[in-house]
Amino acid sequence: MFCWLNRLYRGLSSPTGRTTQLIWGSLSRSLVLSSRRRIPEFSSFVARTNTCGELRSSHLGQEVTLFGWIQYRRQNTFLVLRDFHGLIQLVIPQDESAASVKKILCEAPVESVVRVSGTVISRPPGQENPKMPTGEIEIKVKTAELLNSCKKLPFEIKDFVKKTEALRLQYRYLDLRSFQMQYNLRLRSQMVMKMREYLCNLHGFVDIETPTLFKKTPGGAKEFVVPSREPGKFYSLPQSPQQFKQLLMVGGLDRYFQVARCYRDEGSRPDRQPEFTQIDIEMSFVDQTGIQSLIEGLLQYSWPRDKDPVVVPFPSMTFAEALATYGTDKPDTRFGMKKYLKRKDIESIRKVAADHFNQEVLPVFLKASRHWNSPVAEFILEKQSLELIRLMELQEEDVILLTAGEHRKACSLLGKLRLECADLLEARGVVLRDPALFSFLWVVDFPLFLPKEENPGELESAHHPFTAPHPSDIQLLYTEPEKVRSQHYDLVLNGSEIGGGSIRIHDAELQRYILATLLKEDVKLLSHLLQALDYGAPPHGGIALGLDRLICLVTGAPSIRDVIAFPKSFRGYDLMSNAPDSIPPEELKPYHIRVSWPADSEAEKSSLDHPHHPES
Ligand code: ASP
Repeated sequence: MFCWLNRLYRGLSSPTGRTTQLIWGSLSRSLVLSSRRRIPEFSSFVARTNTCGELRSSHLGQEVTLFGWIQYRRQNTFLVLRDFHGLIQLVIPQDESAASVKKILCEAPVESVVRVSGTVISRPPGQENPKMPTGEIEIKVKTAELLNSCKKLPFEIKDFVKKTEALRLQYRYLDLRSFQMQYNLRLRSQMVMKMREYLCNLHGFVDIETPTLFKKTPGGAKEFVVPSREPGKFYSLPQSPQQFKQLLMVGGLDRYFQVARCYRDEGSRPDRQPEFTQIDIEMSFVDQTGIQSLIEGLLQYSWPRDKDPVVVPFPSMTFAEALATYGTDKPDTRFGMKKYLKRKDIESIRKVAADHFNQEVLPVFLKASRHWNSPVAEFILEKQSLELIRLMELQEEDVILLTAGEHRKACSLLGKLRLECADLLEARGVVLRDPALFSFLWVVDFPLFLPKEENPGELESAHHPFTAPHPSDIQLLYTEPEKVRSQHYDLVLNGSEIGGGSIRIHDAELQRYILATLLKEDVKLLSHLLQALDYGAPPHGGIALGLDRLICLVTGAPSIRDVIAFPKSFRGYDLMSNAPDSIPPEELKPYHIRVSWPADSEAEKSSLDHPHHPES
């Protein structure tokens, strides 16, 4: 059996191609199979003998029964049947005695689901289709049954047929029939399976489910609220199982993991979903390097084998260095990035800086004569410019972008411009960010606190309030808390944060001080955790990997919505079922809730009664 699915299940895995052509074509043919892994039995427990994608010349003469969807029909003579595994050509019988079979196969609309039985035969010489893995054979149909007919489709089930995302999400169950979605979801399942194997079977982790009906917790992201029948009382959906996993450590379950659903009411961003999945991990008696090695091993073990192997250990960079050199805490380290900018690019970059960041950026063009061609040249002493050339290892014809201002702000502006420049250069055909390259990076030594965005005089946790301070900075907590570094680490892949975690505070007094005195949080909300820390809580730490983002990067999918079976739209709607939806007032009564419609929202109310999709 030579095809993409087998590769996937053998862990050799498969096409990143975005076209059906690639998936059924040459890639799948040229594979060398490994006998080390078992291919699952796809036809157990059901009446089919084979899947559509698996038949080859080696099956010639066999009587087979197949189930599948009608992909297309040619001249009432051939019919191509599809299942998750691939395509197979059926020869529709033309003789009188098989009139009823012919009628079924010729009249059933495309995408109807049928059962057929027949014999595997060779295609006549010259009629083989080398683009199809099953292209040397066809099925001479003897019997057929229409299992269910298909209405006129909103779009064709062909990967290369363009459709809007709103339409795909509205008819997600049809979109899932595409090979690309089948591939993405099957690869996801495979990687999760390997992760479970690594964690549970190789390293003794315990898979534990934690509640999703929880209570509002301080710090972190905004939570979704769930009404309860007690007047004025609400559950919250957890933004992560953070507190539970720490409580499990107190409970002596010293290696926990969960494929955990998390909820954050944070508004829309391209790489976020209101509900998403984390590989959530916690360990007792561990330090930062222990967690890092665990994750490196986990990714190496679960990585699809047709990608370049994951090289460990991953490089590491402090937060301060990442900010100063890349202008971000999630650097895309696939490219260094300097040259090839044209004057008109510089103008567009200056405009982006001015329009979006309200900040001036000045270019310097370094000439062969080491002369600075720049509006700032006259304000810079020669000694300073030489020092800059030395520090930045500048070479002739380099372009430097200069800006001034508060360190963090200036650095992050330049970091964003670096990505802007990458877009500009890539639009001109320079490949800077090769999607087949996987560049992992640990970012460490984050500050424990950041000034609150809305009130810079107050502090908030850079990660979450349970993160332990760096051991050498503990004293600063009582004098200059804003200078304290933390034991927080992020994992970055190709410029996206795909994981983050920390060593936790296991001392109740220190935790209380940070919550109450430095973060000004209501400690009563966390009394259960503070209490638990007092009962012999072990030192512990953990991490969570964002599964959706990780799979998105591995598959090269354009959006995380393409690796989730039923995602929310960009604005957080379920375009298929229409969630969130209104509830009649009498059904709200048991929850002691009444909707207070904003003054001018009669129109809005009636639009909820007759919902329409803002995105469709
Ligand atoms: N709970 C954290 C998060 O969701 C991860 C961790 O600290 O383990 O980001």
